Amino acid sequence: MTSSILSLDRNALEGALFEMGFPSYRAQQIIKWLHQHQIKTFDKMHNLPKLLRQQLEEAFTLEDLGINHEHVSKDGTVKWLLKVDEQNSIETVYIPESNRGTLCISSQVGCALDCSFCSTGKQGFNRNLTTGEIISQLRIAKQRLCAINPTQKHPITNVVMMGMGEPLANEKNLYPALRLMLDDHAYGLAYRRVTVSTSGIVPAMKRMNSELPQIALAVSLHAANDQLRDQLVPINKKYPLEQLMAVCNSYYEGQRKRQITYEYVMLDGINDSKDDARALKKLLKRAPGKINLIPFNPFPNTSYKQSPAKRIDQFRDILNDTYITTVRKTRGDDIAAACGQLAGDITDKARRRIKIYEKTSQ
Ligand code: SAH
Ligand code: SF4
Repeated sequence: MTSSILSLDRNALEGALFEMGFPSYRAQQIIKWLHQHQIKTFDKMHNLPKLLRQQLEEAFTLEDLGINHEHVSKDGTVKWLLKVDEQNSIETVYIPESNRGTLCISSQVGCALDCSFCSTGKQGFNRNLTTGEIISQLRIAKQRLCAINPTQKHPITNVVMMGMGEPLANEKNLYPALRLMLDDHAYGLAYRRVTVSTSGIVPAMKRMNSELPQIALAVSLHAANDQLRDQLVPINKKYPLEQLMAVCNSYYEGQRKRQITYEYVMLDGINDSKDDARALKKLLKRAPGKINLIPFNPFPNTSYKQSPAKRIDQFRDILNDTYITTVRKTRGDDIAAACGQLAGDITDKARRRIKIYEKTSQ
């Protein structure tokens, strides 16, 4: 099977060019054509020798994911349902704000980690997205947003890996995509404007800390003790809070002093009491960061309920004297574009679970 040229970051392109007998500086030109000019066929790469264009065409495909649906919300949020193969589709969401435009990208078709409050998790896991499929979401969003509003030159200023899937369970394909997001000749996103959100795959967090220091980290915490976190975020059985907070501490205290964002879903009567807030405050002493409280977004067949607004405010007020604590506004309500409502369309609901995420004897 021919592979997609969109899956190649600068290093990989230089390697491919070397094999073909062309100089490495051509990689930069190709990256510009693909990710800045967003060309759809190789023959548009005018400043490349014809022979190289031909060889690229023979060696690679250049195809974006198909757009199944585009929903534009009243508040400007845009959600795309993108086809990844005959059976499966994923979701990508754009959230405009006054001072920035954030694209929320998917990393997997489904998710194997099975968090009890997440509709993606409830769908089971089908497969990892390739680098080309991850970066194609950015290409498509850029093309569509410029078509929807041609006066906008740079609609996307931030990327968050908070769509479907656990990005750090797909490191091999994620890292080249992140490098393209940061590459000045591709998307050129600024330092720390690309955020990877993880439910806490500790060894991968360690690798990302050393390999990609420009990337911002968001940790989906949701509970301040192991007993509750084991139920909400089952990966906690494999990497309990002690280990998770130790790696967060290495981000915080490391040479690069990275700011961490902690995500905490507000579930009525489950994790939203005053005592829970105090326990969270204590837990984060080790690796302080910003806290983002996410009102639970319901989906069909869930027994969880969203905490009442008053309790969310009370929870925030307890934390706010020590940590900057915000309550995430729900955007794109009318198009089900909020966190955890991203369900895509997975036909293979085999609910495969990956062995390593099961409890290990300590
Ligand atoms: N797998 C990664 C990133 C994708 S989920 C992670 O878990 O961090 C993005 C965020 O949405 C996570 O913080 C996740 O816990 C949260 N989330 C999932 N389901 C939700 C729901 N139903 N309501 C509110 N937030 C939810
Ligand atoms: Fe996967 Fe994140 Fe959903 Fe958990 S919250 S099931 S890790 S996508």
